[in-house]
Amino acid sequence: MKEKTLHPVYMKDFKCIGPECEDTCCASWTISIDKKSYKKYKKIANPSFQKKFKEGIKRIKDSNNSNENYYAKMKLDEKSQCSFLTDDKLCGIQQQFGESYLCHTCSVYPRIINKLDDNIEKSGTVSCPEIARLALLNKEGIQFEIIEVDKPYQKYNGELQSNDFKLNSLEHNYWNIRFFIIEILQERSIKLWERLLYIGLFVQKIQSENYTTKSELNNLISTFKYNLVNSNVSDLFKQIPVNMETQYKILKLIAEARQIEGINHPKFQKHYNDFLKGISYSSSRHDSENLQDYKEALRFYLEIEREIEYIFENYLVNYVFQTMFPLNTDGNYMREYSYLILHYVLIRLHLVGIKANLEGNFNEYEIVSFIQSFSRNVGHNKGYLQKVYKFLEENSLNNLGSYTILLKN
Ligand code: SF4
Repeated sequence: MKEKTLHPVYMKDFKCIGPECEDTCCASWTISIDKKSYKKYKKIANPSFQKKFKEGIKRIKDSNNSNENYYAKMKLDEKSQCSFLTDDKLCGIQQQFGESYLCHTCSVYPRIINKLDDNIEKSGTVSCPEIARLALLNKEGIQFEIIEVDKPYQKYNGELQSNDFKLNSLEHNYWNIRFFIIEILQERSIKLWERLLYIGLFVQKIQSENYTTKSELNNLISTFKYNLVNSNVSDLFKQIPVNMETQYKILKLIAEARQIEGINHPKFQKHYNDFLKGISYSSSRHDSENLQDYKEALRFYLEIEREIEYIFENYLVNYVFQTMFPLNTDGNYMREYSYLILHYVLIRLHLVGIKANLEGNFNEYEIVSFIQSFSRNVGHNKGYLQKVYKFLEENSLNNLGSYTILLKN
């Protein structure tokens, strides 16, 4: 049966580069195995496979954590790699038994499949270096198209059935909301940080007002759309002063929260060291000295920021599309907006330091390489982002005013 699928056009060109990949997806993170695949592996009558199965796969017995999708996990070897990975960096399970034997995680990654009512949406995560290059380096911006695919998907990363929500709720109008947010992100006549704040104003409005009909919401979208094109959005944020001291303080606390988590990925570690060197940051120095060097690094970065904005724009468009932004189960859309901002400011903060350290060697490939390793280490680390959000909440910083301080230079 053919199934209609909406996807960003870059997905058409994606092909796993396997042995050529500089950062295989089979290393350094948890590979969960679903129940069906686990049972299938258990039945394979092949003694050498069974030996590897017993040594390389661990059943998750903790009933609080274990479920149909997270039933077992791969035990990584001494090189932190999946023990089924061959010397040629190919998947041993796929090689020996075919694609149908891959567990759900491995058969889908790096694709993200969502279902919105009867519509399937497919995109790719930039934690895969090949997807990162395809999605982020497109200067024209991410475009979408509908295609027909042969194989219907069985499981989804996210699923939304609008019938589950009360009539006339925002979930019923989700399509319009999200594509308007993508439209704002791709409005290049204004700076990216202003686009992000404009999205904040829009999300805050739909969060705070009790829209009861679809037409009310569509009117709101029309008003925001009109102002985006016909009024000077930049004027909205002109009066807000730049506050470098507070910006630096918030950024420092956010960055230090990352250090507490630890870094176990060599590529990310390298970028992180470049970042620290670039801003000459040291906890033993006085804050005013650290701030001075940060300001200097930022000055260099701002010289080229507009040129590289398209990479961030593509990152954010991809993020909004694949996370079904701003939806979540408890209807707190502003929290999802905070996560969006956190991704942006953390990536930007690191790049300010990396640019200062690499000077003339800083280029778009370095940027994409950093974003890929960031996505793998931080983007996929929900616990860390939740912790940072909690920190913002506890310090009453989870509001548009604080985000303006973080974004405006
Ligand atoms: S990270 Fe991407 S390109 Fe690399 S092995 Fe995995 S799917 Fe293939």
